[in-house]
Amino acid sequence: MKCPFCGRDNTRVIDSRPADENNSIRRRRMCDECGKRFTTYEKIETIPLIVIKKDNNRETYDRSKIEAGVLRACHKRPVSANQITRLVDEVETEVFNMEEKEIPSQVIGELVMDRLKDLDAVAYVRFASVYREFKDINTFMDELKKVISTKG
Ligand SMILES: [Zn+2]
Repeated sequence: MKCPFCGRDNTRVIDSRPADENNSIRRRRMCDECGKRFTTYEKIETIPLIVIKKDNNRETYDRSKIEAGVLRACHKRPVSANQITRLVDEVETEVFNMEEKEIPSQVIGELVMDRLKDLDAVAYVRFASVYREFKDINTFMDELKKVISTKG
């Protein structure tokens, strides 16, 4: 963090303690260039994001739900836990960057599918079949063929 006195980046935290009934952290920082001290407060940014489900019901955004869906799709597939975490991170960043208060669950689903497609075709089709609620095996096979043909 930049020093407010001399503008240089060479500052460090010399003390951290809870403040505001544990709702924030107060940090004393010192500038190694000019020796001055200053205080910063760190707070959790609470943007309550609402997900609009297919039935139009609303629920608060929950990362673990996306993760669970991806995990299920990647069951016994050559996709590592790190890859899954990265995928969910990317989706989450994109979702929050939209800066919307409400996001349809389909939008999140499409973001996941876009990435799964590049990661593992089978996982993608599994996820898509749950998400798009494929009614029968033919729709499922059509989707699978589409992925396989674009892969080649
Ligand atoms: Zn300074």
